[in-house]
Formats: sequence, structure tokens, C-alpha cells
Amino acid sequence: MKTDVLGVQYDNITMEEAIAAGRAFLTGTKAAYCVTPNAEMAYEAIHDENFRHVLNSADLVLPDGAGVVLGAKILKTPLKQKVAGIEFAQNMLHIYEELGSRLYLLGSKPGVAELAAQKMLEKHPNLKICGTADGYFKDEDEVIRRINEAGADALYVCLGAPKQEYFMFRHRNELNVRLMAGLGGTLDGIAGTVKRAPKWMIKLQLEWLYRLIKEPRRLGRMMRLPKFVFAAFKKRMKGD
Ligand code: UDP
Repeated sequence: MKTDVLGVQYDNITMEEAIAAGRAFLTGTKAAYCVTPNAEMAYEAIHDENFRHVLNSADLVLPDGAGVVLGAKILKTPLKQKVAGIEFAQNMLHIYEELGSRLYLLGSKPGVAELAAQKMLEKHPNLKICGTADGYFKDEDEVIRRINEAGADALYVCLGAPKQEYFMFRHRNELNVRLMAGLGGTLDGIAGTVKRAPKWMIKLQLEWLYRLIKEPRRLGRMMRLPKFVFAAFKKRMKGD
């Protein structure tokens, strides 16, 4: 079941249900694609019709982040829960192991995908990772060719938004995969290349502030979160 949150049609599902959907796609016949829009991306989609179309055409739209869940609550159409992309990506590894599906990792700076693969294999020794490539390529056709040659069933596309969503949308008919997911900084997270905030900051729910201090250029993008919440309140007030 879909839930509209300011124009983005989210799947109103739990993590378990998302994994079951991912599993079903792996045994299907087409290249299904999954997007994980957080509030920043959803705010972008309010003003960008093309991006909204690409998000809403996805086979699975996961509410990544507390901001989206809050927005849905404000609009009186609550979502069951937050389903974070990175957690979905990690939970699906069990399924690939079970089904013998081959996973390809695309994105992030050179070396990161390989490191993430290593970390995944430490916990999932039976996982088949059939290839990796960094996200700073010029020739898209060459990348598609390599993914197909590797015989990938599942593909993680970690190029940042909206690049990764357009990539999946544009190439979904050429890619011989069954499930692909746009996952932002997931490979950095799994590889451990991006340092997490100190424990006291995480406890105070200030991880966002840590990231902002480390990368001040994120400010513009981060401001989309309060703007998204503001837009939700505005719509609710109009409706009441
Ligand atoms: N990235 C990439 N190719 C690009 C731009 C970004 O592979 O052309 C990667 C970047 O290295 C990072 C990930 O995309 O690992 C997510 O980037 P960012 O944190 O900027 O995006 P977010 O997920 O926060 O929107």
C-alpha cells in the first residue's frame, strides 16, 4: 500500500515486509528498482517534477529517515516505520546468501566498494560479490556492460541523489539484474570510511550536527529537512 507524503508515494511497510518484497523481486523477471528517499530528497521532489516521477516509478519506495516519518504523521497519514536504506541493504545480504544471488557494488570513491565488500564478507562468508566499481566514471555504457558481464542479480547504486535514481531509471531496461537499490552513502557507512560522531553526540541525537561541523557545505542540503517539515505543516493547516 502506498502513502503519499507531499507528492512522493512511499510504500507503507515494515523492514520485514521490505525484505520480503526485495526477495520477491530477486525471483521475478524484470529489473526492479528501489529508492530510499529521505526528507531532503523528498523536499527536492516537491519542486522537481522529473525527480518525483523517477521516485514514484520505482518498484519499492522506502521511507529513509525520521523526517519522512514525522512529515507523514503531521499529514495524518502515518507510516508504519522508518526503513533506512543502509539497514535494508545489510538485511538483504542474508537473502542473497540464501538464494545464491550475485551482488554488484557500484559507487563511492575508488577503493570504498572493495572495502565494503570485505566487511560484508566478514559477516556473510557465503555471499557472492560478483564485482565492484567506483562512482566516478565517465562512460555509463561501459559500466552497464561490466555489471551485465558479471552476471549480477542485485546491484547497489551508491552515487548520491539524484544521480543514482536517474541512473537506475535510465538503464533499467538494459541491466540484466533483478533488484537494484539507490543507497547514497551506504558503501561509505559499511566500509567505515566516514567516521561516525562520538558516542555522546549520538546519544544526544546530534549526529547531524557532527556531520555539519565536519562538512559545512552540507548546510544548504540540511536546511531542506526543516523546510520539508514546514511544508507538511502548511499542507495540514490548509486541509484542516
Ligand atoms: N558519489 C559517487 N559519484 C558521484 C557523486 C557521489 O559515487 O558522482 C558517492 C559519494 O562518494 C558518496 C555517495 O555517492 O559515497 C553519497 O554521496 P553524498 O553523501 O554526497 O550523498 P547523500 O547520500 O548524502 O545524498
